[in-house]
Amino acid sequence: MLCSSSPIAALFSKTLINPNSRPIFSTMSLLTHAFAGNPIKSRTPKPSEPFAPQTALQTLKSLLSRNTTHESTSPDFKVLPFRKGRPLAGSTAGGPTWHLGWLSLGECKSFFEKSRASLSEDLLVYLGCKSDEGVVYWAVDVSEENGLVNELGSKQLCFVELRTLMVATDWADSTTMAELAIAGHARALLEWHNVARFCGYCGEKTVSVEAGRRKQCSNESCKRRIYPRVDPVVIMLVIDKENDRVLLNRQSRFVPRMWSCLAGFIEPGESLEEAVRRETWEETGIEVGEVVYHSSQPWPVGPSSMPCQLMIGFFAYAKSLEINVDKEELEDAKWHSREDVEKALTFAEYKKAQETAAAKVEQMCRGVEKGHNLSSDFNVESGELAPMFIPGPFAIAHHLISCWINRGIPNSSEVQNQTTSVSLSNL
Ligand SMILES: [Zn+2]
Repeated sequence: MLCSSSPIAALFSKTLINPNSRPIFSTMSLLTHAFAGNPIKSRTPKPSEPFAPQTALQTLKSLLSRNTTHESTSPDFKVLPFRKGRPLAGSTAGGPTWHLGWLSLGECKSFFEKSRASLSEDLLVYLGCKSDEGVVYWAVDVSEENGLVNELGSKQLCFVELRTLMVATDWADSTTMAELAIAGHARALLEWHNVARFCGYCGEKTVSVEAGRRKQCSNESCKRRIYPRVDPVVIMLVIDKENDRVLLNRQSRFVPRMWSCLAGFIEPGESLEEAVRRETWEETGIEVGEVVYHSSQPWPVGPSSMPCQLMIGFFAYAKSLEINVDKEELEDAKWHSREDVEKALTFAEYKKAQETAAAKVEQMCRGVEKGHNLSSDFNVESGELAPMFIPGPFAIAHHLISCWINRGIPNSSEVQNQTTSVSLSNL
């Protein structure tokens, strides 16, 4: 996730060392958060290459205009359908894990025809390619195609909430982690297409261009280009260094007993560090001094109106300790001792929650629980043995907290010495 040549990565490789000089986060520069590390997005081919968005779109157009798409083509096209923000997924035999429900272009076209709809190239959004395997990947929103759901059921595939897939992902399984990243990117793009239907300047309809990677106003005298925008969110672990404790909060939407880091949107005209200090002050009345960057994570599972969030993680050192909770924003905020947080991490049953979610995906795909509300009968994050628990390893909050527990944070003076040449606010 952190480019090894970046100044930030260099900073981490030098400083994430514990007081005994044992590197705890020696793999920090290799830490890939859930939804990061998308293997088909790392390099967009140049327009002259057959896998490039524009070139692939031309090939796609000509294939769709013919009567058959069953002939073998180069490049090969794979399509991932989404319904109301949920990707098509299946359960992997011998699990417990899951896979995305990729369809061939021919399968996708015939599913559309069976539900009396027509698959046009405007509906398909370019996701990326694996040029060494000769495959180009696309996503398509089929929310309007009700007939499709029954058709796909016969293939033991179903549309699953991305959050459920996120919890069901085995952290150690790089293949599923890669699929989760692809699904997250695809969901963010498709949701952005849904909210960018009209031009913000003149109000005319927008059309998809460059294989769905951007949109353009259809008004000839306007023709504004519209790109997917990322909404940056600061997320911070506030540390009381003197008393060796951290500030965690609860929100009413959290599952019972879950505590996490503070987070908030960046406002126009402020730096990341200023956003960390302002949000902490507004929500808890705590004054923050030094702010240290940790890592960032794409977060496509926020509200559907904001599908392209980027969580930017920091450690924030408290200058004052008295908490004054803003009850409109938070249910509660408290200082938690190292011992309590360590217990919460040790006893939380992340593995059990993962297996439960994976088993639910399997049941859904076998049609066992059609129409059943999944969230009603299991907590995606269990942690039954601890009086409190923190989010699972799919969330950046987990890594901020466990980094503090493992004493992997550089101490203040060390940071001050090493950050003088790196202005983090210029990121
Ligand atoms: Zn316009």
